[in-house]
Amino acid sequence: MEHFQPIAEPIVLSTTFERAPDGSYPEGFEYSRDDNPNRRRFERSLTMLERGFDAAAFASGSAASMTLFQALNPGDRVVVSDDCYFGVRQMLDRIFSRWGLRIDYVDSADAGTLRTALREPAALLFIETPGNPRISVTDIRQAVEFARSAGALVACDNTVATPCLQQPIELGCDFAVHSTTKYLSGGDDAMGGAIVAAADSPVWQRIRFAQKQCGCIPSPFASWLTSRSLPTLELRITRQSETALRLARTLQSHPRIESVLYPFIDTHPSYETAKNQMRAGGALLSVQVKGGTDEAIAVSRKLKIFKRATSFGGPASLVEHRKSVEGPASKTPDNLLRVYVGLEPFEALARDFDQGLG
Ligand code: PLP
Repeated sequence: MEHFQPIAEPIVLSTTFERAPDGSYPEGFEYSRDDNPNRRRFERSLTMLERGFDAAAFASGSAASMTLFQALNPGDRVVVSDDCYFGVRQMLDRIFSRWGLRIDYVDSADAGTLRTALREPAALLFIETPGNPRISVTDIRQAVEFARSAGALVACDNTVATPCLQQPIELGCDFAVHSTTKYLSGGDDAMGGAIVAAADSPVWQRIRFAQKQCGCIPSPFASWLTSRSLPTLELRITRQSETALRLARTLQSHPRIESVLYPFIDTHPSYETAKNQMRAGGALLSVQVKGGTDEAIAVSRKLKIFKRATSFGGPASLVEHRKSVEGPASKTPDNLLRVYVGLEPFEALARDFDQGLG
């Protein structure tokens, strides 16, 4: 094995590694739950992409957020963006509140509301920006400033923006959190998640320990698949952002569309903030169709190129009526469709919406 130098990364499936005669592990690999060559390479790439100190990869984005919350103590207060991924909310409400975390959801895109929420001490501010599915944009620098006055660490779910468009650690956050299932894996074929830390800290050490000891780890194959997609991330997200911006502008003037939510159109309430902290608007937008649930679902049924499916980040454009997924208690408007712009040409996607709205 040691006599050739492959250009493409080999996959190491072995769960266990041999000791040297002196009993040491020369490459540091002992058992694959603790560390594996594919996972280590993936973590190093993530550390570089997010300009962090270190990264831990997980079996899913949900496992990554779970591990972050597990690193806190019972009784800790967590302030959370109310436009965060619905699954994170479910996890906090149904699991972590039973374990003693005190959760406060706030509109983190509203500076006044966030400042007020952080007048009381908190252990963690968890923001997602752009938020999902209402595409709200939180001013990261300002959020960090407010959080510091409350003594809180700051984690930013950077899944929707990707590290190519937004750098939470450079903007002052302690952690960037990812569902790598999305753009980072880029193929709709590998579940994964990650936490990138800005610096070493007791919380980071607890996260690392839980990753290795509790074992919510990605397989070598999932790590390899995701690493394989990273070199094309910037090309993909740049092209997709261009297409999404054009589509957002086109849909804005359609008579059947009530509003378009996209960070880089000037009607977005946080347009200036988005321009300040993001390189481009990304590939996720939401549209509100005139009418209610029925009208929105009818449009999604007529679309042909946009497949009706959850998730985002792969090559195929997708559409989803989020309220149906999130249930009646959700604050997501009834007439909202989340639109994910994949790698297809703008003209084809615009034509598809034209016929879908017609
Ligand atoms: N964060 C965001 C922004 C998401 O959209 C998702 C999933 O949809 C997650 C986290 C959870 O990631 P996963 O599905 O990989 O567990």
